[in-house]
Amino acid sequence: MKCTQGGNFSKGELQRFGNIELNPSAGVLNYGQGLFEGLKAYRKEDGNILLFRPEENALRMRLGAERMCMPSPTVEQFVEAVKATVLANKRWVPPPGKGSLYIRPLLMGSGAVLGLAPAPEYTFLIYVSPVGNYFKEGVAPINLIVEHELHRATPGGTGGVKTIGNYAAVLKAQSAAKAKGYSDVLYLDCVHKKYLEEVSSCNIFVVKDNVISTPAIKGTILPGITRKSIIDVARSQGFQVEERAVQVDELLNADEVFCTGTAVVVSPVGSITYKGNRVSYGVDGFGAVSQQLYSVLTRLQMGLTEDKMNWTVELS
Ligand code: PMP
Repeated sequence: MKCTQGGNFSKGELQRFGNIELNPSAGVLNYGQGLFEGLKAYRKEDGNILLFRPEENALRMRLGAERMCMPSPTVEQFVEAVKATVLANKRWVPPPGKGSLYIRPLLMGSGAVLGLAPAPEYTFLIYVSPVGNYFKEGVAPINLIVEHELHRATPGGTGGVKTIGNYAAVLKAQSAAKAKGYSDVLYLDCVHKKYLEEVSSCNIFVVKDNVISTPAIKGTILPGITRKSIIDVARSQGFQVEERAVQVDELLNADEVFCTGTAVVVSPVGSITYKGNRVSYGVDGFGAVSQQLYSVLTRLQMGLTEDKMNWTVELS
């Protein structure tokens, strides 16, 4: 799908997966005008396929595009393109319980631009890949390290949108953490350096005395669709959920910590290391709260329970 700055996207067409051609001075290559999304399709027992809240991804891409001076497909165009791509790749959706099809929509400044300015032309494309678990630990607890020097986002920056540069910015800390055996990095705010933000590719929740807290959305963390869904699921299960500034010190007394994201779903955190001190949260897997929320959410996403929230879109 293509469009020129300010114009409309045309009706897209399906193409075999392969390399794409880009002008060396394309806006995305030189000035980082790129946004992506991530969603999953699950196969149900009856063979049909379920998408989870694709219109939320479309809306997030539209908000991000506004911040990055890019035009974006309409919600309808986005959702229709996702459906068409998944249906064309139906055979790659794993059987029930064996993983999912990861769907990656990508919006980029594909037009040539030499002086710093928004690109004159944009391309929207979608590719897919079957996936299993995101962390090598599977659904076993992950081990995080708090990063206190490098930051992922600054107030007024682009941390709250899913732009490609945010991911380049986390590679250094993430690679260093993985080299030391950690699963991922937990970022702090860059002003006070004491409030939790998020992990490189997922949101974070802290549980204390059955109250679930998660950092509030203030432009520096990604408004995760799994985060939003888990908040609703938790409230529907009778939990108190607080979206607020969560201090790093609260990790010391937490009963449970878990991460949420399309790729990680709900992943329990087994330990967090901060300034050389390691806090552990049990070793056998989920805590009671994250186990309950994981179970309710995944059963809904996989079509194993009635979708009272009206969150899934069924394709046959
Ligand atoms: N934060 C970041 C930085 C992410 O890349 C992701 C993955 N999209 C998330 C949080 C979780 O968002 P979602 O639940 O929409 O996948």
